[in-house]
Amino acid sequence: ESELLEVRDLSVEFRTTHGVVNAVNGVSFTLGRGETLAILGESGSGKSVTAQALMGIIDSPPGFVTGGEIRFHGADLLADQQLQKRVRGQSMTMIFQDALSALNPVFTVGWQIAEQLRVHRKMSRRESRARAIELMDLVKIPNSAARVDDYPHQFSGGMRQRAMIAMALALDPEILIADEPTTALDVTVQAQVMDLLEELQRDLGMALILITHDLGVVTDVAHRVAVMYAGRVIEQGDVASVFKNPAHPYTEGLMTSMPRVTQKGQQLIPIKGAPPSLSRIPAGCPFHPRCPYMRPGTCDVDPPPLRPVLPGRRSACHFAEEVLS
Ligand code: SF4
Ligand code: MG
Repeated sequence: ESELLEVRDLSVEFRTTHGVVNAVNGVSFTLGRGETLAILGESGSGKSVTAQALMGIIDSPPGFVTGGEIRFHGADLLADQQLQKRVRGQSMTMIFQDALSALNPVFTVGWQIAEQLRVHRKMSRRESRARAIELMDLVKIPNSAARVDDYPHQFSGGMRQRAMIAMALALDPEILIADEPTTALDVTVQAQVMDLLEELQRDLGMALILITHDLGVVTDVAHRVAVMYAGRVIEQGDVASVFKNPAHPYTEGLMTSMPRVTQKGQQLIPIKGAPPSLSRIPAGCPFHPRCPYMRPGTCDVDPPPLRPVLPGRRSACHFAEEVLS
């Protein structure tokens, strides 16, 4: 049986006047039915671009998907235009940091939630409006029957975020992608929206891809985690075992510099040195200039593939076994 989603060797580059930026370099990960996968990385690790590539919303030019596969129930989206049209925006939807830019100021919130239902489910105005109210209840927007005719500017930031989630859920997606969905909100509201997402994922049984740089959010909400560095997934596995015993020196470094990862709002404190520029990624292992386990002649020459190291665990390190022990 195939995975719900399997991404293999996905690459995205941006062709700029300053040269080529390799934002995503052979990203691979899997997502199971009804699971929450966190894609964890510092800014510039390629996590948002990966999500945008899944949804087919990379600005092109300058951005281009230059290789790889995005398999949905086993079929490659990148090789099938018809399938792309059916999946993106319907079976796989996305919410963003900034709800204001996702909502159109000139239409009511209810009208926008109902839009997909009119287009894809051929619902009438009345039916789709009634369903929009139900969806607003689902995402816990109080007083939905009255607020369905409000405009986005009449909503608070947190309520707009909920409205955007309602839009994304209208067509019962199998996968919801959330790119730093709470970063723009107050801390209290952040926690509420994250709780809502967790609850919806569980109750609706959909799979959730959570793009984040917040270790606390990962431990609280995600089942599995894919850690990204320099446009690659360098480690993937279930959250508890990855955090307890990392199989990659980068993850290990994050854990050592962050002894208490159970608190929400904990940001990644990068380990010594800086991540490479994506237009000048080091040869071999991209982490080798910062890695305490680095072996010259191997690490600075051969790029380590993401490989199984324990049941359910994969690492892109030549010496993963040493890191694990
Ligand atoms: Fe460090 Fe080498 Fe592993 Fe890269 S492959 S993480 S440089 S030990
Ligand atoms: Mg981002």
